[in-house]
Amino acid sequence: MTTIPFNTPPYCGREDEYVLQAIHSHKISGDGAFTKKCHAWLEEHTGTAKALLTTSCTHALDMAALLCRLEPGDEVILPSYTFSSTANAFVLTGATPVFVDIRPDTMNIDENCIEDAITERTKVICVMHYAGVSCEMDTIMAIARRHGLLVVEDAAQGVMASYKGQPLGTIGDYGCYSFHESKNYSMGEGGAILLRQDDPRAEIIREKGTNRARFLRGQVDKYTWEDLGSSYLPSELNAAYLWGQLEMAEQINAARLHSWQLYREGLAPLKEEGLIDWQTVPEGCVHNAHMFYIKARDLDERTALIAHLKANGVGSVFHYVPLHSADAGLRFGRFHGEDRYTTRESERLLRLPMFYGLKDSEVEQAVDAVAAFYRGGRR
Ligand SMILES: *Cc1c(COP(=O)(O)O)cnc(C)c1O
Repeated sequence: MTTIPFNTPPYCGREDEYVLQAIHSHKISGDGAFTKKCHAWLEEHTGTAKALLTTSCTHALDMAALLCRLEPGDEVILPSYTFSSTANAFVLTGATPVFVDIRPDTMNIDENCIEDAITERTKVICVMHYAGVSCEMDTIMAIARRHGLLVVEDAAQGVMASYKGQPLGTIGDYGCYSFHESKNYSMGEGGAILLRQDDPRAEIIREKGTNRARFLRGQVDKYTWEDLGSSYLPSELNAAYLWGQLEMAEQINAARLHSWQLYREGLAPLKEEGLIDWQTVPEGCVHNAHMFYIKARDLDERTALIAHLKANGVGSVFHYVPLHSADAGLRFGRFHGEDRYTTRESERLLRLPMFYGLKDSEVEQAVDAVAAFYRGGRR
């Protein structure tokens, strides 16, 4: 029996060479040749007006929150079923997260719960595209336009995924990508912010609140402190690693989708018999196989399944204790409406191994282990 990890960081083969090139170019701080290549790739492949690499998706979200010019007391509507960074970015500006329920089929924000949560303090809707499957963006953008709200997309999991032909992260005002080692494309720790309309404030915020970028382009003769900001630009060493991944993005994506499809076929009988549930990919959504997850009947069954999989050499994880029930969520935010699905569905969800380099035989082993759990009377 081989032990299958839940995740292994992506590696394509040329990353070493690129990192060495960065070292020997004597340019290892940010915004060198590799960062520029990554910016060009992101802008070309998404069609966004401007893309900037950041030190993480968390920092891309922080930048987005600053770009939204929020003030204490302003409100941001977002799902509770998401990573802490989605809410934390807005709390740092003094705004209040207002959590609403999710849809059980995609685990994304329920677009039908948004409008009822809008007050005169609402400034932003922040969506998160879970598992690289898009939220219902036409409806959400229409609500935003009707109420004059900004839209931030936490597209940490959405690189190379799209909604009705539009890449995730380019539909709202600001899109945030993650290149953490657990994501489809990686630089260790890193991310990017995508701007639907270029805004000179973005590079100022990213460069410690200074106009250093304009200075380096020779547009001003000295650089000074102009606005709020922090150090959000990653080193060339990280960008070089990322370049080794982005140039292989099609291959990585195809390999992940292949594994995803194998899971789907292998687990179809259990799904048909109603023993497990899984994600829905609505029409118009092209996903990127960021995850393969299933849903057990309830928390107890999931706990038993995780133990069974572990005993059979299969790493599986669950995540996202709903933010509205976490300490910080209780302190900084509030839930609007009824929690029909957020808590219940989060307790059922289980992620199976999914990474670039996952072997077909490993998917089969994972599928067999899940099937043995449901068929072997171990429930
Ligand atoms: C991974 C992730 C983040 C954080 O990304 P980092 O690059 O690690 O900061 C934020 N939001 C979501 C939805 C994520 O999946």
